[in-house]
Amino acid sequence: MFIEMIDMLRCVNGHEDTWLVASFSMVKNRFVEEAKLGCPVCNATYEIHGGVADFTLGVALPSCEAERAAASHRREELATRVGAYLDATEPGATIVLGGLWAYAAQELSEMADVRVLAINSPPEVTESERVALLRVADRIPVAPNSVKGVALDSWFRMAIATSAIDVVKPGGRVVGPAAFTAPPELTILARDERYWVGEKMPDVIPLQRAKGTQ
Ligand SMILES: [Zn+2]
Repeated sequence: MFIEMIDMLRCVNGHEDTWLVASFSMVKNRFVEEAKLGCPVCNATYEIHGGVADFTLGVALPSCEAERAAASHRREELATRVGAYLDATEPGATIVLGGLWAYAAQELSEMADVRVLAINSPPEVTESERVALLRVADRIPVAPNSVKGVALDSWFRMAIATSAIDVVKPGGRVVGPAAFTAPPELTILARDERYWVGEKMPDVIPLQRAKGTQ
C-alpha cells in the first residue's frame, strides 16, 4: 500500500473517528509491504501483508468466480461505466471499487485523476500510488463522509451497503447489485437488472448528532 494512502484508513469497530497507529516491518519505495495497524481506541489490530490491508477480522468472504473471466477483459469499458455511475469528475477525490468493479481501479485512477480503494479485488488487480488494495467484511475502513463514491457487487455481504452510506459524502453515489436492497438514505438515479445507482441526500443529518442534542 502506498504510504500516503494509510492516513485514510480507520478502525471497523463502531466508535469515534480516529487514525490508526502504523508500525512498519517492510517498506519499499514508499510502498508498505508488511505492517501492523493498531486502533488506539479499541486496540483492534489489522495487518498489511504483501501490500494488502486486511480488515476482515477473520470473517470468510464469498466469491463469484464465474463472473471474473468476463470482467477482466473489459477494464476500460468498466472504468468508463463506473466513472459515469459514480460521477467521478472531481480530481483528487477518493473512490471505493469493490469486487469485479476493482478491475477498473487502475484505469479509473488515471482517467479521472482519483484515488481508488480496491476492496476484495480479484487477484489480477495490482496496487499503485493511487490504487490501494484492501480486504473487508462488513465495513469499509475509512472515515465517515470521506469518499465520493462506492461501487459494490454481489461478492459482498449485504451489511457493506450500510457502511457505504456512512463513508460516502453527502451528494456522493453508491452502486450496488440488484441482489441488495438499496438503503433508504439513497435517492435511486438508475436501475437495471444487475445494478442500482443511488445518490446520498445532501442534507442527511448524522443520527449521533441528533441524539446528542436532544
Ligand atoms: Zn477501534
